[in-house]
Amino acid sequence: MVKQKHVCVIGAGISGLAAGKAFAGRGHRVTIIERSGDLGGVWEPARSYPDVQTQSPKELYRYTDKAMPEAYPEWPKGPQVHAYLRDYARSHGLDGAMRFNTRVEGMKRRADGKPGWTLALRSTDGATGHEDFDFVVVCTGQFNEPQTLPLPGEDGFKAQGGQILHSSQYGDPDLAKGRKVVVLGGSKSATDIAVNAVNSGASEVTIVFREPVWRIPYFIGGLVNFKRILYIRAQEQMFASWGIGPMARLAHVVAKPFVWANWRGLESMLKMQLKLKQCGMVPKERIEDGVNCSVPIATPGFYPMVADGRIKAVLGTFDRYDGNTIVMSGGQRVAADVAVLAIGYKLGVPFLPAEYQNKLVEPDGQYRLYRLIANPDLPDMGFVGFNSSFCTVLCADLAANWLVRYADGQLARQPSAAEMHDNIAMMLNFKRVERPAAGVYGGLCVAPYHFKHFDELLADIGTKASRRNRLVEKFTPPDADAYARFLATAPVYMAAA
Ligand SMILES: Cc1cc2nc3c(=O)[nH]c(=O)nc-3n(C[C@H](O)[C@H](O)[C@H](O)COP(=O)(O)OP(=O)(O)OC[C@H]3O[C@@H](n4cnc5c(N)ncnc54)[C@H](O)[C@@H]3O)c2cc1C
Repeated sequence: MVKQKHVCVIGAGISGLAAGKAFAGRGHRVTIIERSGDLGGVWEPARSYPDVQTQSPKELYRYTDKAMPEAYPEWPKGPQVHAYLRDYARSHGLDGAMRFNTRVEGMKRRADGKPGWTLALRSTDGATGHEDFDFVVVCTGQFNEPQTLPLPGEDGFKAQGGQILHSSQYGDPDLAKGRKVVVLGGSKSATDIAVNAVNSGASEVTIVFREPVWRIPYFIGGLVNFKRILYIRAQEQMFASWGIGPMARLAHVVAKPFVWANWRGLESMLKMQLKLKQCGMVPKERIEDGVNCSVPIATPGFYPMVADGRIKAVLGTFDRYDGNTIVMSGGQRVAADVAVLAIGYKLGVPFLPAEYQNKLVEPDGQYRLYRLIANPDLPDMGFVGFNSSFCTVLCADLAANWLVRYADGQLARQPSAAEMHDNIAMMLNFKRVERPAAGVYGGLCVAPYHFKHFDELLADIGTKASRRNRLVEKFTPPDADAYARFLATAPVYMAAA
């Protein structure tokens, strides 16, 4: 019999809701601790920049048991995603489990000798306290602690009326109106903000980035939704994945010329469609060498605005501020009223004690997580949403379903600690040696290997069904409804008090 646990889920974003639902659904008592005043994580309205929308099409950015509303566009806007999450929480009875305005500040093993952890909590009104939990699910995401870039001359820049903000603080487009905006970064948020600044009436917009990267348009060739090309198993299988045998390796060698031609074809198409030469933005890297979670979608309007000069593109980074200008690493000076630092976020689990940090993160920043969910040296805890991808909601949902069974010893393929260690070592080698692009974000990215990752999770869980038509499955994107059906075939159990 599985004994009911009191489970603490840290974070009420997409992953926290998936974890809350999965653990409550197996009869556990769940408390979701969220430091901000609302659910949604990166989709919380207070944290979103204007015009934010998903990169993933809506059918790929959803839980297995709830589609996004029919009326939503293919790429829903931030407020729509937030409404969907609110509805998801309500329909699974999670509202009562959530405790907002409470931050987890620390954790240590329970002093009473029972399995689990004592969490140190602080609420926004300053009250502190400690609470015991039998199991902890970390769902704090990868986009929470903004990176900073302290540079000489900041005080002087601000004294002249200049503003420096992180991309997560660019919430009001009026900020840009009539002003010179300089955006640092090459991510989707950087290009979104640059385009928004132009549309909001900025007097000048400059984007500063280290090197051009491949960006994927919502419609490749202007016609085909990118999900039909880049999200399919046939495309994924062009990349040699981890743990493959000699025959599969041989198949990759034989197919190499065709695979090469496939990528060169895609590059030519993107160069033509996005006018990359005209913009001076042809990437040096081969497209296939950089496919991972950092591949951005091309913000509509970005390249045309670069081509016609509405957005000035500068290669390099900020070196220092000097009066009301920003001096670039190449020496170029750009006048600025607003500097937007779209430089990403710090990865980490700051509340984990140092002795456990070392077990979780390697000196080179790579995470030691089996299936990107659990570590045998971190007992009574797991991670949901650390398997990020191009379809993060599905990843979080399947990870949550995996983790509850792992915690309860109910996986069909319950791994031993030794098996987990071996697998972690094999994956680290894959990310460091075989495919360095897979080491991005601490190795916490499954793209482009969505199907392989999902196959492993489902086999561990012990699902019985798979898509009936294997050929159709090879050429269609992941189907959340199908994954719901597969999950329904796994052995059923409930925890009891
Ligand atoms: C603008 C933007 C657009 C994106 N679009 C896509 C997309 O189209 N497709 C895709 O696959 N992914 C996308 N992503 C990635 C996105 O991060 C994930 O899809 C997903 O939202 C992550 O959810 P999460 O719950 O894991 O993390 P988060 O949404 O970051 O939620 C984590 C929560 O944990 C809370 N928290 C953190 N630390 C603590 C603490 N110590 N105590 C208590 N609470 C804490 C935070 O307040 C937050 O609410 C996008 C990200 C951004 C920023």
